[in-house]
Amino acid sequence: MIPFVNLSSQRNAYHEELEAATQRVFDSGCFIGGKEIEALEEELIAYTGTSHAITCASGTGAILLSLLALDVRAGDEIIVPDFSFVAPAECVALLGAIPRFADISGNTFLMNPASVEALITPRTRGIIAVDLFGQCADYETLQRIAKAHDLWILEDAAQSFGASQKGKKSGTLATIAATSFYPSKPLGCYGDGGAVFTSDATLASRVRALANHGSSAHYFHETLGTNSRLDALQAAVLRVKLRHLRKELAIRTRNATTYNAFFADIPGVQTPTIEPQNESSYAQYTIFTENRALWEKRFSEADIPTCIHYPRPLHAQPCFAPFNTETIAASETKKACGGVLSLPVCAFTDVKEIISRISLE
Ligand SMILES: *Cc1c(COP(=O)(O)O)cnc(C)c1O
Repeated sequence: MIPFVNLSSQRNAYHEELEAATQRVFDSGCFIGGKEIEALEEELIAYTGTSHAITCASGTGAILLSLLALDVRAGDEIIVPDFSFVAPAECVALLGAIPRFADISGNTFLMNPASVEALITPRTRGIIAVDLFGQCADYETLQRIAKAHDLWILEDAAQSFGASQKGKKSGTLATIAATSFYPSKPLGCYGDGGAVFTSDATLASRVRALANHGSSAHYFHETLGTNSRLDALQAAVLRVKLRHLRKELAIRTRNATTYNAFFADIPGVQTPTIEPQNESSYAQYTIFTENRALWEKRFSEADIPTCIHYPRPLHAQPCFAPFNTETIAASETKKACGGVLSLPVCAFTDVKEIISRISLE
């Protein structure tokens, strides 16, 4: 069986560097905060071109901290994509605010700005845009809408670390951004991890305090906060993997190109549409086909794993039933849920081998 994300080959490739990095942390006796965290945050700033990077315990934590720093309150309406991982809508609802679900554009699977605009009411406070599968959302149009209605934008960059739009790196395209270092993301650690990026110094210092019990000085708590910190071992691992990221992203892109060429000759399979202003990090390589069951069978018989990102519109998840979502049309979201299929694409995936196996069938 080919792994969906080949973390063991990646670990073998960087073994000595990873051993040295983790040994350094064990020897230091410093496991929370300290030099590794500071160094990683500096390196994240240098890589993305943002002004402030605050590491935290997960991508979900990064979203929650961002919403708290933006002062989201009960009853506020926040527009989120209907076709996405659950975290953005979940964090909104956890704070007592109201997620409003925007439909996507059928070809890119990204939040459709026209659908966003149609959901704006006097209670709308902000928009969470998700950079789905590694491709940045349409920030130019979203920024225009946000400006006209005095809204903030939170960039959910959990899948897009390393991607860019018009030469600007993911994480710098909105008021504030949240990324994830979950093991299978483009930049992943060996556990949970995340980070918040912003060019706004006030938001940055709020996030930093919120992640550490609302405290900026020892045992002095200005606001309520929580514990959402990255640990030093994960930071040391991330610093190693960050050094190899550019090379890995180039291989992901090459893998996608190889798949594209193969599927070009196959009717009924739509390959990913990447807009000309975007460079995707290919967190996922996701095809669309009306015959998904057939393709799932074909891959599984060849011992190639596939995943469905995502099988159900968020508005139809039971946890969002209290928001009276049953009348939402979401035609493009529903269509995508019925036909998307993600294939292995990481930098340690042998896509030629995959293609040869399914061509023989
Ligand atoms: C993975 C993911 C998250 C959550 O990240 P965690 O680190 O798992 O908490 C949030 N949003 C999107 C779009 C994701 O893919």
